[in-house]
Amino acid sequence: MPIRILYVNLSERSSRVVDRPDLFSKYLGGAGIASKLLLEEVRPGIDPFSPETPIIFAAGYMTGVFPCMVKAIAMFKSPLTKNLGESHSGGHFASALRFAGYDALVIHGASEHPIIIKIIDDEVKVKMADSLWGLSPLDVEKALRECSYEGMQSVISCGKAGENLVCYSNVIVDRFHHFGRLGLGAIFGSKKLKAISILGRKGISLKNPLAVKEVYEKLHHKVVISDEMSKYHNLGTSANMLELNELGALPTHNFKESRFKDAERISGETMAESLLRRKISCPGCPIACIHLAGLKTSFAPEHERGKKEIFHEEVLVPYNYEAMYALGNNLLIKDKRDLILLIYRCESLGLDAMMMGTVLAWVTEAFEEGRITLDETLGIKPAWGDAEAYIKIIDNTVEMKNKFYAKLAQGVVAASEKYGGREYAMALGNNGMAGYITGYGAILGPLVGARHSHLSNSGYSIDQKIMNKPISIEQMVDFLIDQEDWLYVLFSLGACYFARRIYSEEVVCEALKALGIDKTQDELMKMGKEIFHNLYKFKVREGFELSEQNIPKRIFEVQTPHGKLEFEKIKSMIDYYIKKREKEGLHLKPEEKALKELLK
Ligand code: SF4
Repeated sequence: MPIRILYVNLSERSSRVVDRPDLFSKYLGGAGIASKLLLEEVRPGIDPFSPETPIIFAAGYMTGVFPCMVKAIAMFKSPLTKNLGESHSGGHFASALRFAGYDALVIHGASEHPIIIKIIDDEVKVKMADSLWGLSPLDVEKALRECSYEGMQSVISCGKAGENLVCYSNVIVDRFHHFGRLGLGAIFGSKKLKAISILGRKGISLKNPLAVKEVYEKLHHKVVISDEMSKYHNLGTSANMLELNELGALPTHNFKESRFKDAERISGETMAESLLRRKISCPGCPIACIHLAGLKTSFAPEHERGKKEIFHEEVLVPYNYEAMYALGNNLLIKDKRDLILLIYRCESLGLDAMMMGTVLAWVTEAFEEGRITLDETLGIKPAWGDAEAYIKIIDNTVEMKNKFYAKLAQGVVAASEKYGGREYAMALGNNGMAGYITGYGAILGPLVGARHSHLSNSGYSIDQKIMNKPISIEQMVDFLIDQEDWLYVLFSLGACYFARRIYSEEVVCEALKALGIDKTQDELMKMGKEIFHNLYKFKVREGFELSEQNIPKRIFEVQTPHGKLEFEKIKSMIDYYIKKREKEGLHLKPEEKALKELLK
């Protein structure tokens, strides 16, 4: 079966379709084909904002077929890390792409004026979009949604942060989902690409629908009835806040503490009782883990003057644990409405809430220490728990109001390298840290993971499983390697990370068989490993060196459920990790010659 790739060139406003049977036989779809296209299409050492830099989107091979197979993969050169940009999103994007008849979309070139890409099956257009420039992704979605009663539709868009090239701006998908991490929004902005709208009406043809139906029903039953995924429907990931607080693993006060005394006030439980309005799902997923809070926004005071009753408009704001930790407990925000307001600001501007929260925490501490003053902040006094000040800082960062804010727009590491305070700039591999200070896995996992995410290899979850039975350095590293390799199999099929326990190796083989593909568990594992190798080859080629990565000192000062972490132990884990990966044939050190080429 060939992989159908839609190429769109924004400079020429042209498109073409290329069939690649070789990619299907090797990688099936999703992350696998994206990893190969990344190596083929991105010129070594290229500036992420160069018009030549491509954006690669891919849908999984099982997208739109089995439950929870929904994720779209985006790969690009990250403006934040200057190496691999990889981001996954739920919503309708992957399904719409497949329903329109494509497995991947590769975008080249750039425009001088704002544009959008509009795809309706075989009809592909690059259209002017001046009137959309400056709008929030939420408004863009409203403007571009087709009035169609057939097929699958998706609208994705960057916000003002992307337009202004904030290095951790995101792309919002169908209003409530995100390509959240590593700065895809800024790549859109650099190409003057405001949005992509897809309407796919062709559907997916199956060789043996009855065999698929049989496996589908089994899986659907498992997803709905078993306990594996019930947490995600009930409170969603926001349930993590009180669980981690209880455990003493909740990053608080910029990771100075691992418990927050006001956690209850902004927890998932409190949100569910007071602000929760709706739960929504990705297509073909019966879970509905996306929790939407109602936020009342005021009209201008002059409209309401003299009235007995003040009217408000209510907007829906998606909340999940990661945004809640980064903009909540880690900043000592204790009012639930303030927290939703901060999340809403990031949503409206198209910002990665996790990195923005990390930046705000660093700003507050750097201000306390006198590393930055009111001159830099333009008179704003950052203070723990002060949402009003934080909103002004967010706005100034997106507008890059002065040199200081322009630095903040490059991320927490860039800011700390300029103004100091690197020891509490909480990033691993240049990506803002996730909300877990559970133990060694939570640090080593994102550090070695290809996309420096806590979801790369579930390091935070192994920490929680081994609470009373510590494991050796080798066992920890082996776990992370096996997890990440296997997850890349699932990400090639389109799986949602939350469904990883449903899609065991055995289940995946059975589901593939129903689709007419015979693969053994070993073959799949080999494929996952090769995908990881592709991604690391790209990273190393772009100058990434694992052994040189900085770990913020704060990590070793805070109490975790496994006690205070030791630098030497993490170092031994990294050494062992490098040894193991090199044994697989992967070189983790950029070659001097290649580096010189890059610097030319
Ligand atoms: S569990 Fe949540 S994120 Fe995953 S597919 Fe279902 S609704 Fe989407």
